[in-house]
Amino acid sequence: MRRFLIDFSSDIRTCSYCGSFFNTGFLCSGCWQKMPWSQNGHVLIRGDNSGSQFILKYLFDWKANENRVCDALLTSLKGGFDQNVFRKLAALHIRRHVVMSQPKAGVNLVIVPAPSKHSRADHAFAWGRALSDILDSKFVPSLEAIAVGNQKNKTRSERNVLELKGHENFSEFQGTVVFVDDIVTTGATARAAYFALGRPPHFEVWSIAYRHLAAE
Ligand SMILES: [Zn+2]
Repeated sequence: MRRFLIDFSSDIRTCSYCGSFFNTGFLCSGCWQKMPWSQNGHVLIRGDNSGSQFILKYLFDWKANENRVCDALLTSLKGGFDQNVFRKLAALHIRRHVVMSQPKAGVNLVIVPAPSKHSRADHAFAWGRALSDILDSKFVPSLEAIAVGNQKNKTRSERNVLELKGHENFSEFQGTVVFVDDIVTTGATARAAYFALGRPPHFEVWSIAYRHLAAE
């Protein structure tokens, strides 16, 4: 529990978005307030064709080009990221979505990050590590993206769907498998993860943002 109280106040910094001086956590409070915080904080995603569903828990409803602060934050995560930002976002996510009144709430969770497309640790890993550090949960990077044969005849959105291989099977796992990715759009990667991990009986997806496409 000690790690739950993260101290962001040790150094005076400037807001990464507007540049104003402040003394805690990456963005100034004005910019944090401008972020598109999700109302419900969760949405259901279709699992397999039998009608199963799983829950996506997230912080921000993101539509590109509609909120400059959010665009800037998410873009900055993609670039050279700062682990402190992920820790701050993870703390916010857990405060909202995890019942910490239960002792050892994180022990029954296994955190599985989306694999990098470039076979190196990236933002989904950073997000997953920040979450598992705070919760004292196991961090299990057991998914691997595999190259998909002929890409030529596929549409662009089909090409963006990763084919995943799981190195561990959670079909009998009694705890909850939490698949984490920084941004979830259609849920296709999460669905691929669900199957690659052996359709865990308790499966959730946690992301920083839920991306809404312009057509919605
Ligand atoms: Zn600001």
